[in-house]
Amino acid sequence: MILKNISILYGTELKYIESTDVQIKNGNFKKISKKISSKEKAIDCSNLLLIPGFINSHTHIADSIGKDLSIDADVDSKIHPMIGLKQKLLKETPKKSLSKYMKNSAKSMIKNGITTFIDFREGGLDGILLLKSALENLPIRCIILGRIEHYNTKNEIKQNMPLPKEHIKQLTQLLKNCDGIGISGTNENSNSNLQSYAKTKKIRAIHAAETKDSVNTSKKLTGKSEIQRAMLLRPSFLIHMTFATKNDLKLVAKNTRGIVICPRANSSLAEGIPDISLMQKFGCNITIGTDNVMINSPDIFREMDYLWKVTMGMSQSRFDPRQILKMATVNAGKMLNQKIGCIKENYFADCLFINKNSLDLEPMNNVYASIVHRASENSINAVMIGGKIVNGKL
Ligand SMILES: [Zn+2]
Repeated sequence: MILKNISILYGTELKYIESTDVQIKNGNFKKISKKISSKEKAIDCSNLLLIPGFINSHTHIADSIGKDLSIDADVDSKIHPMIGLKQKLLKETPKKSLSKYMKNSAKSMIKNGITTFIDFREGGLDGILLLKSALENLPIRCIILGRIEHYNTKNEIKQNMPLPKEHIKQLTQLLKNCDGIGISGTNENSNSNLQSYAKTKKIRAIHAAETKDSVNTSKKLTGKSEIQRAMLLRPSFLIHMTFATKNDLKLVAKNTRGIVICPRANSSLAEGIPDISLMQKFGCNITIGTDNVMINSPDIFREMDYLWKVTMGMSQSRFDPRQILKMATVNAGKMLNQKIGCIKENYFADCLFINKNSLDLEPMNNVYASIVHRASENSINAVMIGGKIVNGKL
């Protein structure tokens, strides 16, 4: 397929090219240049802008059934892995109902231009298999980070309890069925646990410095910061870092592939706002996630808009919207070390066709600002994953 005369955001810097041709073959971007001549089917795209498909770098879509339950409760009462309402919901709801709402969230993400999402899946191997069956026949790419349901009490952390043998076996089995592990946090895991998880060969991710409370608990319990302890996991990336210190950020920039921030989820829990200017200053690779569906909608357009405005409002200084768009695309592809999140030769053809003449966008005087704070599902003519149109039409 050849897309003729299309505007694109090209390469890892999302460089705006006003008009070019794009050849898509075997699910990839094959060639991008002016006037490609070929006998393949050609489509005139002169009113369209091609941008990379969004990567939602952190979700828990299993709790889609719990939308806006107990909105007045504190973080732990809502989503703590041992005592939270969410855990009770996941355990007590029939699988069929969980599955129905997981599927709805995945469908909603596709319509909103999300072509890949990274899900933290609770419930051990059964939890992973349930997510996989819910996503059957849906084209969205999903990176599943599972976990075994094993959490340490404060006393067990102080005694540095090791991971029981039967759980090590469970972990091996689990990792054969998913892309890596998603750990709830250091405050539920002994050093020995974290070191056992660190030996696994796939992706290793962990929530860290999400709340002031979790930061203080770590200090009180172990004398170390959450981030210092999270490093025992040798994490591929960390989630949140809302209350990370400068030293934490230095450690993370040097030793991991990135930080996933979830600004709307943090705000919805009345916890705080991640400081992306500081993260950038220390050279961290920043990506964006929408976190629990229970507390936030899985919509990257809304996440980008919110993040851009709240950052400038709080810091009283300008922030480049192109950097925000990179967090939802290029940076996440880099964090996953996969050929996604970027319109470039030999990358997977995961992309969105934005209507430049749509009511909300025309005239697009600043293409990055337009996408970050004006575009929505209404501005997308079509969503493509792996070279196939999976929603809308050209
Ligand atoms: Zn999370």
